Amino acid sequence: MQDQIFKEALKHKVFEYITKATDELGLDSYVIGGFVRDFILKRGNAKDIDVVTVGSGIDLAKKVASLLPNKPKVQIFKTYGTAMLRFNDIEVEFVGARKESYKEDSRNPEVSAGTLQDDQDRRDFTINALALSLNAGSFGKLLDPFDGIGDLERKIIKTPLDPDITYSDDPLRMMRAIRFATQLNFTIEKNSLDAITKNAERIKIITRERIVDELNKIMASPVPSIGFLLLEKTGLLNKILPELIALKGVEEVEGQTHKDNFYHTLEVVDNISKHTEDVWLRWAALLHDIGKAPTKKFDKRNGWTFHSHEFVGSKMVYKLFKRLKMPLNNKMKFVQKMVLLSSRPIVLASEVTDSAVRRLIFDAGDDIDSLMTLCEADITTKNPKKFRRYHKNFEIVRQKIKEVEERDRVRNFQPPITGEEIMKTFNLKPCREIGQIKEAIKEAILEGEIPNEYEASYNFMLQKAKDIGLTAQTEI
Ligand code: ATP
Repeated sequence: MQDQIFKEALKHKVFEYITKATDELGLDSYVIGGFVRDFILKRGNAKDIDVVTVGSGIDLAKKVASLLPNKPKVQIFKTYGTAMLRFNDIEVEFVGARKESYKEDSRNPEVSAGTLQDDQDRRDFTINALALSLNAGSFGKLLDPFDGIGDLERKIIKTPLDPDITYSDDPLRMMRAIRFATQLNFTIEKNSLDAITKNAERIKIITRERIVDELNKIMASPVPSIGFLLLEKTGLLNKILPELIALKGVEEVEGQTHKDNFYHTLEVVDNISKHTEDVWLRWAALLHDIGKAPTKKFDKRNGWTFHSHEFVGSKMVYKLFKRLKMPLNNKMKFVQKMVLLSSRPIVLASEVTDSAVRRLIFDAGDDIDSLMTLCEADITTKNPKKFRRYHKNFEIVRQKIKEVEERDRVRNFQPPITGEEIMKTFNLKPCREIGQIKEAIKEAILEGEIPNEYEASYNFMLQKAKDIGLTAQTEI
């Protein structure tokens, strides 16, 4: 009965060919890991298949390729003893079953040929060690030595062998455990959690790129705070993103407190994740308050303040991205911009003037919607009256943005008069006055003194130039 269910998992045409190749070569082969796990969890059709064979993975891959109708190219990774091929929409990776032994300073083990059991022993979690036979005689038979099926039902992340050794051998597994717990909404078994806490220090042997890969998967999950709370609890967050740990805690001076910005931040990330799949906007939510730790001050008159935390925070974004070897490209610039502008719509919400809205649209450009989404997610008050009021205010701001946009077209706008035209009109060589006039035209448009139109700008330019003692050579 169970075999029947798993045959369903193996109905893709590619398995027929793998079975044929396996039997022709006289091997034992299995599909293993994420493919089996995700089939049981009904997580949609996997596009990546991992096949392990007791023998040479490369030979098996070549054989399969020779049988497949499209005769795909086999990509061989000699150092890892693996091979990969594509068939239609599917990518299949072949590896020979192996045993592993680790050294203190590296997560890359020495490997030697082994049995299926050896191979299952080296897997990170019981739920990732499930294997289905691909041999004709036992097609679809489940091999589950660690009750991975039970752990899938109980929603538990657990290592097949001693967790202390498993995490110490390859500390990336600590990030993977937390990532799977977040993606699947599973619990990490207590011994595992203790072992992660004990081995947190060993994260230092993992490359930053691998860490960020896992962070991004946590970030892309439905409720990212699950992962960040686990990272914090195990001591990993302090090693990866100390800027967030610095936001933790509530201080009290003369009876005045401020909110715990760490837990607030996580709430903002969860909130925004209900409204956007964009991981960069989610990163912006995670980092929007990081400037609050270094700018925090208390004085008797104003209580707790975080002056220019947005500016300081946006500078910190660059350092953080650089340290973690994240891309220093337009994605980073987007995150910086969101952090820098993160308080602007809130200020607006109390007094929505046309000119302030125009300035916001001008500064945010095409990211105005993302910025509004961030600010709405930033509302974490537990007071339902305030909650409704703040959202209502943002609705008004959004409405106003729409009206001003339609009327004034200031998004990404370039002042209608160019520097070149100013030079020509007043017969000038490049000089400071050109910039002054240009800036004055932009300001006048944003302030609503003149409309965003050529003629009005031209007349304004003539007036402005007169004020600073320039005479036009030609007039319209
Ligand atoms: P996803 O595709 O969501 O990342 P996956 O489980 O398929 O999930 P892969 O990274 O493709 O993840 O790994 C495939 C399989 O290889 C895993 O299911 C697991 O059995 C094994 N594996 C991957 N990384 C490790 C590791 N660091 N330690 C031990 N086993 C691992």
